[in-house]
Amino acid sequence: MAMDGSSSKAAPDLRVDVAIVGGGMAGLTAACGLAQYGLEIAVIDTEAPQDLTAQTFDGRCSAIAYASVQMLKSLKIWPPLEDTAQPIKEIRVSDGESRHFLHFDFAQIGNQPLGEMVENRHLRQALFFRASQLGNLHLLAPARVEAVTRDQARAHLVLKDGRTVSAALAIGADGRNSRMRQQAAIQTPRWRYNQVGIVATVAHELPHCAIAHERFLPDGPFAILPLTGNRSSLVWTARASSEKAIMGLSPRAFEAEVQRRMGDFLGKATVCGPRWSYPLGLHMAERYIDTRLALIGDAAHGIHPIAGQGLNMGLRDIAALIEVLVEAARRGEDIGSPFVLERYQRWRRTDNVVLALVTDTLNRLFSNDIAPIRHARDLGLSVVNRLPVLKRFFMSHARGTVGKLPRLLEGHPL
Ligand SMILES: Cc1cc2nc3c(=O)[nH]c(=O)nc-3n(C[C@H](O)[C@H](O)[C@H](O)COP(=O)(O)OP(=O)(O)OC[C@H]3O[C@@H](n4cnc5c(N)ncnc54)[C@H](O)[C@@H]3O)c2cc1C
Repeated sequence: MAMDGSSSKAAPDLRVDVAIVGGGMAGLTAACGLAQYGLEIAVIDTEAPQDLTAQTFDGRCSAIAYASVQMLKSLKIWPPLEDTAQPIKEIRVSDGESRHFLHFDFAQIGNQPLGEMVENRHLRQALFFRASQLGNLHLLAPARVEAVTRDQARAHLVLKDGRTVSAALAIGADGRNSRMRQQAAIQTPRWRYNQVGIVATVAHELPHCAIAHERFLPDGPFAILPLTGNRSSLVWTARASSEKAIMGLSPRAFEAEVQRRMGDFLGKATVCGPRWSYPLGLHMAERYIDTRLALIGDAAHGIHPIAGQGLNMGLRDIAALIEVLVEAARRGEDIGSPFVLERYQRWRRTDNVVLALVTDTLNRLFSNDIAPIRHARDLGLSVVNRLPVLKRFFMSHARGTVGKLPRLLEGHPL
């Protein structure tokens, strides 16, 4: 994408309130939400919808926190997911072979699920379906943004096929290597963990009883996350140096390694479908805003999946941004003005920095086998497990119900 400012001054082909670059889970959720509240929206993605929802595109499943589910319900994205989402009622955290563990149980918080497991492709399908119901949402995909200029008045986008889009605000939702962020020269501290997340789905003989398991093994966490039916999604954090060997294992050898890590509490596990590998890292943009620009989702930040919070963080950004923009529009303010965008940044960035540091620390603390650290963390698990107040505190964080929540996350319309 050449961001050289060579946009034409002729009348644009499409004039909207907000142009969103990136139609992934973050970009599409923002688009559906803003369009639901009456703004004219364009979404541009380099991939066609049928490719983004193909079984072969993204093998991940997401743990969607309780508050994020309330938001997806408010935005009418949730109904098609009703039958395929799996509630998470309990979480069990254990440390290798240690007898200490931590157990979160939804019975301790009024039998409200901690969250729901959703296959990413199902969430993408639900988002495209909702988008198709909104006449003021223009989906331009596949389409590539070739040039962007942003001035005091508007943002101008030129697509590769020559079409032009003019917007009061551009939103960068174009993922971890965001070109929108780069074009705005926003510094983004980042580091790679020496780890990859290997993702696969297994079917197993025994029911999972809606329990998510997080096992801390020396190379990193191994998560067994419940899906509908007797199936679970695995996120196996492995050293980056082992990636090639693991991805190259024969199906039978891979299944044996998976079974060894899972143990036999779910009976025999059978790997269904392909396995995927994702590099793991952390990045955090120093600013989420620039002239006529706001960043959301992985374009703004990316964290270790140890707590299943990356997308949830993005959804919290989006809930806040929708609330800020919709209120500004109702008051007759310019939705792309620095005063309005500043409200969004103030609301979200500090929370995100704190969560990123917490996940970073957890990963460093648990992805090693150094004896004194192992003893200290086992003590920590056992202390938290015995203190109901602390347990409720952690459960509230897992459910995303802490802090000054945007209204959509409380399930309220705007
Ligand atoms: C192994 C693993 C497990 C995870 N599990 C969880 C979990 O359980 N819960 C959770 O909350 N989070 C989880 N996450 C994090 C979550 O998957 C990400 O935060 C989320 O996918 C980010 O979505 P996004 O829409 O911001 O970015 P992306 O999914 O990267 O979407 C970006 C979109 O922008 C488009 N694009 C890129 N460049 C351009 C361009 N120039 N022009 C137009 N379009 C462009 C791309 O085609 C893409 O569609 C996990 C992550 C990993 C790696």
